[in-house]
Amino acid sequence: MAAIEDIGEFGLISRIGSRFNVPAGAVGIGDDCAVIPQKTGLDTLVSTDMLIEGVHFLRDDVKPFDLGWKSAAVNLSDIAAMGGKPVATFLSLALPAGTDTAWVDAFIDGYRYVSAVLSCPLLGGDTSASPDRICINVTVLGECESGKAMTRRGAMYGDFIYVTGTLGDSAAGLKVILEGKERDEDAERLIRRHYRPWPRVKWGQALAGIEGVHAMMDISDGIGSDLNHILEASGGAAEVIVSALPMSAEMVRVCAREGWDPWECAINGGEDYELLFTAAPDTDLSSVPHARIGRIIGGSGIGWRDSKKDFQGFRHF
Ligand code: ADP
Ligand code: MG
Repeated sequence: MAAIEDIGEFGLISRIGSRFNVPAGAVGIGDDCAVIPQKTGLDTLVSTDMLIEGVHFLRDDVKPFDLGWKSAAVNLSDIAAMGGKPVATFLSLALPAGTDTAWVDAFIDGYRYVSAVLSCPLLGGDTSASPDRICINVTVLGECESGKAMTRRGAMYGDFIYVTGTLGDSAAGLKVILEGKERDEDAERLIRRHYRPWPRVKWGQALAGIEGVHAMMDISDGIGSDLNHILEASGGAAEVIVSALPMSAEMVRVCAREGWDPWECAINGGEDYELLFTAAPDTDLSSVPHARIGRIIGGSGIGWRDSKKDFQGFRHF
């Protein structure tokens, strides 16, 4: 077992670089800059996210493979949210002395898995020592047709509100981990959803290509919080039918077993990385899995309908 200081900064960089392919026409890891050929008629999308040990993850709780997976996935989810196609990522790592190279290798394996499936190469980054904590920063570049990026701004009065996938799985999985609950098959699936979210890149691109889809974002903090971002950017209010929120059978069963409120997980739980979008009522959405959860109305804030419970914190009427 070697520690990172045994192989040095450049050893570490070449160890990372040797495991990623550079697309034809591009310059990747190893020069002063990456070079990415441009195409006309396209807009560039850029996003960056940090993951700090002790803030976003605990080193002893998360497997390095899963951390690498999640570092790539949450960034690619931002490209998905705009309806973009991923182009490249940049990975900056600050690692304390003593970090095992096996840890880095497993981290890179997880990162590479997501990158490979979504055909998004790693083209650069930075490497530094850190006094005691692991810090990870990922920057992602994407592209979309000029003027066609799907923002949070376009929601219109009368639009229906939709989500892809199910809500609350990740939050329930995290609760199982933090509270040390029994890990049966259901719980394990929720934990996987927490550690290995899948960025909805294909669905995002499909939705961006549909005329009636007006606004979109990815759900990182839970719809109770994220839906407000669409309302703030677009204006208007939302009426959400709580009984229509899509939930997995696994989440419902684990919540029933533990006496947790599944709606609490679905509404306030974060890190689902599903897409939240609005579309005109007669829009054909058959190409993308979706559930209709409400509509855009006049006023401000979110009204939670058809719920026995009052989601007080989010009732802004
Ligand atoms: P400079 O001193 O010119 O900034 P560096 O020594 O920091 O260059 O990096 C050398 C090359 O290695 C660059 O292409 C950079 O993008 C890449 N690189 C550095 N760290 C990483 C990393 N953690 N992941 C991927 N590429 C990296
Ligand atoms: Mg550098």
